[in-house]
Amino acid sequence: MNYYSLNHKAPNTTFKNAVIKGLAPDRGLYFPETITPLPQFFFDNIDNLSYSEIAYKAIEQFVSPDIPKSILKTIVEETLSFDFPIVKLNDNISTLELFHGPTMAFKDVGARFMARCLGYFNKDNSNEVTVLVATSGDTGGAVANGFLGVKGVNVVILYPSGKVSDIQEMQLTTLGQNIKALEVDGVFDDCQDMVKQAFLDQELTSKMQLTSANSINVARWIPQLFYFMFAYKQLHKMHKEIVFSVPSGNFGNLCAGMMAQQLGLPIKHFIASNNENNVVTNYLKTEDYNPKPSVQTISNAMDVGNPSNFIRIQEIYKNNFNTLKNNLSSYSFSDAETKIALKEIYDTYNYVADPHGAVGYLGCKAYLKTNPNAHCVFLETAHPTKFLDVVEEVIKEKQVLPKQIQAVMGKTKVATKISSYDGLKGFLFK
Ligand SMILES: *Cc1c(COP(=O)(O)O)cnc(C)c1O
Repeated sequence: MNYYSLNHKAPNTTFKNAVIKGLAPDRGLYFPETITPLPQFFFDNIDNLSYSEIAYKAIEQFVSPDIPKSILKTIVEETLSFDFPIVKLNDNISTLELFHGPTMAFKDVGARFMARCLGYFNKDNSNEVTVLVATSGDTGGAVANGFLGVKGVNVVILYPSGKVSDIQEMQLTTLGQNIKALEVDGVFDDCQDMVKQAFLDQELTSKMQLTSANSINVARWIPQLFYFMFAYKQLHKMHKEIVFSVPSGNFGNLCAGMMAQQLGLPIKHFIASNNENNVVTNYLKTEDYNPKPSVQTISNAMDVGNPSNFIRIQEIYKNNFNTLKNNLSSYSFSDAETKIALKEIYDTYNYVADPHGAVGYLGCKAYLKTNPNAHCVFLETAHPTKFLDVVEEVIKEKQVLPKQIQAVMGKTKVATKISSYDGLKGFLFK
């Protein structure tokens, strides 16, 4: 598969090059040249396929011929070595738990897949690649874990000081080896801007090979389409129309769901569930796309004021506002509403959600008001104990920490403080 730049001012390139470069030379995001739907037989036969088989068939066209089949099979199997269960709350609402990986957020899948692809591409290469990544909370941990010990790859993670949870901070600052953390005096958008500036800095890019492990990287973004197929495998026998409510920040996950739909997965509709960072909710109301500075919320991984993947969503719908609007609804919820939802989910269904999942649940409820026959799946994008303060405060019940979380508690944080782009540059040149 070749990829083109959404700025249309750079040559098309291979999967391999798109992964290594992250962004196109004209600073555009890469997008696959073609999307070929999977045969109907694939969906009819989905009960007989394992998760790895589903994933392999779904992603093969986007990767080939750059990674040989047998190696791609291994990469997919290693990436997916944990479960993706559906938990039904009632006849109309389920949640898809995407937090059973090593860092307990959905980003583990993309990070593990990308790390293995980059490790494969870099195996005979003596030049090191530096992965530069901005995190609003969960990406940092997932990328740190996925890339730990990968030969020839250095990872530099930028996170906003005081704006990630304690557990998230431990996950990205305690691993050592090839993983370095930079604690930025600012918000997530400042971190993301510094990363973008680094890619534009010729003095830097002439001396080192930089790439991104944010969802702008196709190897981080595309594997997320697996989730929607795994949900379908577990739910299709209900014979109801399936809609997905995706708690969204940078819109990579939602956009991957739309790719699954393009591959032929029968998804009736999408819901972009937002916290008070509501650029997309407003866009669908007004047709006016107006990025603004992010505001801090209790669902911090969605505190994004200028979602980088929205341009890919527009590409899928050929920039046609009405086609997009027919397939996507969006709602925005306050922290107060999110807390009430957490409590309601616990009291009504005896289920402990995390703040991001709770926003997704609210999206389902809003949609079902006018579409009462649909079955809405909200993605549980992180384990509730990653947001222990909020969750325990609201449901007033002590949580048991899973082994993945216990493993990082009490480790020593190592991070370098920076407050400007010069700080980042100085660090990289050291
Ligand atoms: C990253 C993240 C999101 C947002 O996902 P995007 O793909 O950036 O829209 C939602 N919830 C959690 C827990 C996350 O870590």
